[in-house]
Amino acid sequence: VMASSVKVAVRVRPFNNRETNRGAKCVIQMQDKSTCIINPKQPKDAPKSFTFDYSYWSHSTDEGPAFASQRQVYLDIGEEMLLHAFEGYNVCIFAYGQTGGGKSYTMMGKQEPDQQGIIPQLCEDLFKRTAENTDPDLSFSVEVSYMEIYCERVRDLLNPKSRGPLRVREHPIMGPYVEDLSKMAVTNYSDIADLMDCGNKARTVAATNMNETSSRSHAVFTILFTQRRHDQMTNLDTEKVSKVSLVDLAGSERADSSGAKGMRLKEGANINKSLTTLGKVISALADMQSTKKRKSDFIPYRDSVLTWLLRENLGGNSRTAMIAALSPADINYEETLSTLRYADRAKQIRCNAVINEDPNARLVRELKEEVHRLKELLLAQGLSDLITATGNTHTHTHTHTHTHTHTYIYTYTLFNTYKIIAELNETWEDKLQKTEAIRHEREALLAEMGVAIREDGGTVGVFSPKKTPHLVNLNEDPLMSECLLYYIKDGVTRVGQEDVDIRLSGQFIKELHCVFCSDVEDNGEGEDAGSCLGFWL
Ligand code: ADP
Ligand code: MG
Repeated sequence: VMASSVKVAVRVRPFNNRETNRGAKCVIQMQDKSTCIINPKQPKDAPKSFTFDYSYWSHSTDEGPAFASQRQVYLDIGEEMLLHAFEGYNVCIFAYGQTGGGKSYTMMGKQEPDQQGIIPQLCEDLFKRTAENTDPDLSFSVEVSYMEIYCERVRDLLNPKSRGPLRVREHPIMGPYVEDLSKMAVTNYSDIADLMDCGNKARTVAATNMNETSSRSHAVFTILFTQRRHDQMTNLDTEKVSKVSLVDLAGSERADSSGAKGMRLKEGANINKSLTTLGKVISALADMQSTKKRKSDFIPYRDSVLTWLLRENLGGNSRTAMIAALSPADINYEETLSTLRYADRAKQIRCNAVINEDPNARLVRELKEEVHRLKELLLAQGLSDLITATGNTHTHTHTHTHTHTHTYIYTYTLFNTYKIIAELNETWEDKLQKTEAIRHEREALLAEMGVAIREDGGTVGVFSPKKTPHLVNLNEDPLMSECLLYYIKDGVTRVGQEDVDIRLSGQFIKELHCVFCSDVEDNGEGEDAGSCLGFWL
């Protein structure tokens, strides 16, 4: 068992345009590991000072501390966590902070040179390292899943077929898990990059369709990394499995301060349930450390979906890091101070990570025992049922209903246990095949929506065709904007909710919203998009 504190970093971003135009002042100062914040209303007061494992100055390149690049942040935090994953530990990195603080930039970043965040760099590094392996007895497998938690509901970002929310269940041995969440088998970095891309787009599509913004949801990207070693002498395989959880949390600002009203406010309360519970869990874990009480039963993990699913990563079997994203501007002083206090509390959490050696073999054994136990229980129930039926029905009425409830629960648990065993026994080929099938479905669905697919059949292309007229989506979240492309065909393209070529959904979209007519002129050098007219109904 490896006891370690949660690694905590803070990072301050550059001014955004709005802040620059308003002549905002920077209230953050950093030196080595320490971060100070000045109250803009009492500038004479001594700045409040905090110390973290890392204080990243990504505000300006002018003067002051050295500028922390995306690469630097990855090398300090991402690489360390990746090495722990190779050792066989579960790892988790989560980004916390108010909307616009730089969480997504730090975790995902932009698809431009030197702008990629921790997640793509970690994935690339993972495959780079496995490719360097020369040991013929050592093999690797990587599976990824990507989900979003919005209003306490879990959405699969990689499987278009799963529309409704997924159920969060608890298995006596496996612990909390998301039922039917797709796990994609991947063999190289570009597979993962495509999935990330699709997942980020699915987030946009879902958010656009439901009138939400992605800043209100939590995104959890999970990599299941398995290292299999074959032992020549015994001809046995041993495995090390690491679960890497990379979490981009919802904005930490209170719902009312972002100007949310009415329905949004209600949603805000619900979304923040995961966030407020996370705060409570962190506080409770910090208190547990300071009072040296070893009672973890009072940690309210179960009170929200996020904390329930990340239970192991918060004070359990995991190596965990948190990055708090800060706005530099005086107008955000209150939120920034509260983020710093949050990060300060997280420092106190200690985790007890263990190397997950051969969990599959152990799990299969334990699950088989579980099946056996459940069968015995059912058998016992069946017998008592018979006894009830032949005995005095009047006096046994109560026992009878009671028995039925139990029988139902045992059968249900048994069914789920079988399902998990089947999943654990799935071969790598099965997994690849399943992944491929889901990819086809995803492409078909996007094609049906009128979204462009890259010619190599890969993923939705983020590119602008020169000759084909098209529509590009806009989103208030810059990361999500211009992610989707809708082609306008030759002739008539119908846009709306129902029976159309381009499907848009949302409160203000009509059944048939508008029609585009495109005239194509043939000028002898191939087709050229001529005039294109839109009729808005
Ligand atoms: P959040 O996910 O916390 O809501 P974002 O990551 O979307 O915030 O950041 C808001 C904006 O600031 C984006 O346009 C992003 O590109 C930019 N940004 C954030 N952090 C940095 C940074 N360290 N360097 C440059 N730009 C940044
Ligand atoms: Mg974001």
